[in-house]
Amino acid sequence: MKIAFCSSEVFPFAKTGGLADVSGALPLALAEEGCDVKIFMPLYKNITPQRMEEDFGVSKIKKNLEVIFIKNDSYFMRDGLYGVSGGDYPDNLERFSFYAAKTIDIIKRIGFSPDIIHCNDWQASLIIIYLKTKLGNEPFFARAKSILTIHNLAYQGIFDSSKFPLLGLADEYFSMRYLEFYGKINLLKGGIVFSDMVNTVSPTYAEQIKTKEYGCGLEGVLKEKGERLTGILNAIDYKVWNPSSDKFIYKKYSRNTLEDKYINKSRFQKEFGLKVKKSDFLLGMVSRLAEQKGIDILSKSLNHILKRYQVVILGTGDVKYHKILGAKKSRYKDRFSLHLKFDEALAHKIYASCDAFLMPSRFEPCGLSQMISYKYGTVPIVHHTGGLVDTVTDYIHKGGGFVFTEYSSKALVEAVDRAYDIFCDKKKWLPLLKKITSYTFSWKKTAQNYIHMYKKCQSLP
Ligand code: ADP
Repeated sequence: MKIAFCSSEVFPFAKTGGLADVSGALPLALAEEGCDVKIFMPLYKNITPQRMEEDFGVSKIKKNLEVIFIKNDSYFMRDGLYGVSGGDYPDNLERFSFYAAKTIDIIKRIGFSPDIIHCNDWQASLIIIYLKTKLGNEPFFARAKSILTIHNLAYQGIFDSSKFPLLGLADEYFSMRYLEFYGKINLLKGGIVFSDMVNTVSPTYAEQIKTKEYGCGLEGVLKEKGERLTGILNAIDYKVWNPSSDKFIYKKYSRNTLEDKYINKSRFQKEFGLKVKKSDFLLGMVSRLAEQKGIDILSKSLNHILKRYQVVILGTGDVKYHKILGAKKSRYKDRFSLHLKFDEALAHKIYASCDAFLMPSRFEPCGLSQMISYKYGTVPIVHHTGGLVDTVTDYIHKGGGFVFTEYSSKALVEAVDRAYDIFCDKKKWLPLLKKITSYTFSWKKTAQNYIHMYKKCQSLP
């Protein structure tokens, strides 16, 4: 099966979040299952393809997997992927419509006739929109079916209506049935409407997004997809996330040498000015600092948490949260380690060094950090929502994490306190760590689920 996999960020070439992790690992797993995969992504700054053609670069990952980098220096050779300092680039519509049109053009030019065009999020939605509108009758794409994966419904690619002519689409498509959304252009909506199938990254989130509470205004179009909307749980790449081979952490360890996790903890405490104490409960968080991630309830409960426990937060995003968290930093110098940046190496150290990991997300399409935490023997403390429902069961129900249901600071603190009680009882804590390090969320199984969806999609009229 030939797959054109289109994503605006792909690990290890460019990453701002989970989309990159998925787009790095899923194509590889699909290739290992025998698919012929080409990834299409922009050629950003700091990427050096193995070979350059006039308007695109190519890197061959394995025999049946290549990455094609779409070149446009004025659009993509910038410091950020979508913007800088929390703001979006004002020409993102132009940038990603260029990416879409060029991807389609190159697919044709290199004669890669795909069975499936798999697009991710709003940045690649225009590929599907163009295929179904402008290029609807091209024989080259006649057998290609299109799939849109929604990694986060909160990001929809919304632009002012005055930009519609730049898309080169007929006026009829700027209507409620298609791309119009409350007087603006909504690229994700267009992708949903025109795709043959839509999926999101966990079964629970796939259900939630059909409701008003989680649908971000698109619940109607999503419900209309009926059987054409599914949820497939993400996985993690154990070549990247594995404490027994992790080059970023202080001391490698495995589930058989879990005591060595505490060497990571004490080295971390020392390096970042926290009190070096094994019995102090160290809570970690690695996250975009966005409304979605529950920073509001976390910051309200931080005083309480920091009085009893140590906390490390690595994150970047909303300036409002940079300020709120920054203010706490000066009050709790040897209990709070705050890093307002994106730092892959530090993220690995945090997963390895902490006792527990905080994910108080208001909503969470899938979440990767809880799966990573399991592998590092770091117990997730999570809000009961989206993919966290599908991956974390509470300790009291024989699961590997601590779950709170009500979205509130009080409920979060209660879950943290419950985790601490178990942490203090080594006879319970160590078996818990042993158990969670055996949990596996493999891309092989997830890739097989995607192939199943591709086949279903091919059989649809
Ligand atoms: P989302 O895609 O919503 O940001 P996920 O949980 O799906 O959240 O994925 C987040 C990924 O990004 C994880 O691999 C996490 O470790 C990483 N990450 C998030 N913020 C940072 C940061 N500031 N520095 C390094 N890695 C980060």
